[in-house]
Amino acid sequence: LLDGDGRSHPTIFAEMSALAAQTGALNLGQGFPDEDGPAVVLEAARTAIADGANQYPPGRGDAVLLEAIAAHQRRFYDLAPDPGREVLVTAGATEALAATLLALIDGPDDEVVVFEPFYDAYAAIVALAGARLVTVALRWPDFQPDLERLRDAVTDRTRIILVNDPHNPTGAVFAPEVRSEIVRLAERHDAIIVTDEVYEHLVFDGPHVPIATHDGAAERTLTISSAGKTFSTTGWKIGWVTGPSALIDAVLTVKQFLTYVNGSPFQPAIAAGLALPDAFFTGIAQTLAAKRDLLVAGLRAAGLPVSIAGGGYFTVADAAGCGATDAAAFCRALPRRAGVVAIPLTAFVTPAHRGDYATLVRFAACKKHDVLAEASRRLAALG
Ligand code: PMP
Ligand code: GLN
Repeated sequence: LLDGDGRSHPTIFAEMSALAAQTGALNLGQGFPDEDGPAVVLEAARTAIADGANQYPPGRGDAVLLEAIAAHQRRFYDLAPDPGREVLVTAGATEALAATLLALIDGPDDEVVVFEPFYDAYAAIVALAGARLVTVALRWPDFQPDLERLRDAVTDRTRIILVNDPHNPTGAVFAPEVRSEIVRLAERHDAIIVTDEVYEHLVFDGPHVPIATHDGAAERTLTISSAGKTFSTTGWKIGWVTGPSALIDAVLTVKQFLTYVNGSPFQPAIAAGLALPDAFFTGIAQTLAAKRDLLVAGLRAAGLPVSIAGGGYFTVADAAGCGATDAAAFCRALPRRAGVVAIPLTAFVTPAHRGDYATLVRFAACKKHDVLAEASRRLAALG
């Protein structure tokens, strides 16, 4: 957590957003949308506040939201969680991840297999939970794991296989055979699958296939999502976990002492969002796909090879294309050099593996069309 030098550091997102604010550069670093989500959702939160939804909601979550999450799982995935026992509302996906790992890790001999690069909170939460991190590399340019290496990583010591699909920071969507292999290995070694699917509605060549829908997976899988990504409400911190009731009970046991409950007026508002027609959900994926295309074209025009994202907020490019040998130095210089902020992939890997990602950079596509167009113009001027 102290990054090896014994000092506390802000996260890479806080650091890079501060740099964007300081330099006035366009922020393609931190993944948050720069436009509001659906008006009905925003209005529903205002109404909920006016109607007095301002005290602690129930521990598992507002009944209306629990029902809406269960109905959403049925509508899109043909999964049928019991809203009273198999759904838990959390303070964003972050608390869902933290409460889940803290609940399921027994001790320092437990291993958590994660795909590297990984969302920065994963390694920190594994450390907080006192478990061992075992990583499986995702390699440029397709960022799919090598199945042989995955088989080597999962053993009887594996307590959790932590999946993130679509993936942050690479934009990869796991191939069906990768998902089935994860399920097979979890069954063989009696591990639990914890899957972070916050970008479930931002898959470009959909539909999204939750790993929980694979044969044999449901009884050993906890699926995490977040309203922040689907409804562009990242600051509301409404997330959830679904899965077998015994596992959900364990997560609730921890959650009740982390935050107890969260976001009462936002919960019915997100329930309203989850009930929006299918066209809303296909529309957000199409809109983001067009933004990804614009960003990809801009990066290519700047001479940077790109790994085209299959889903999620981000696309990775190779800064070696414009002569960089160190993506971290490139990203520190980029705001002043080109007026653009981006994040080096080395921020998402363990120190020993930084060399494998030395020139790769993550760019966020979840920004206004004009911002992406201007960023592309600025990047093109680099070449
Ligand atoms: N997981 C992934 C993969 C993410 O990209 C994010 C958002 N940055 C989170 C979890 C955290 O989600 P939330 O803001 O809902 O806590
Ligand atoms: N998920 C966002 C990202 O990857 C930011 C989240 C955060 O700032 N912690 O950029």
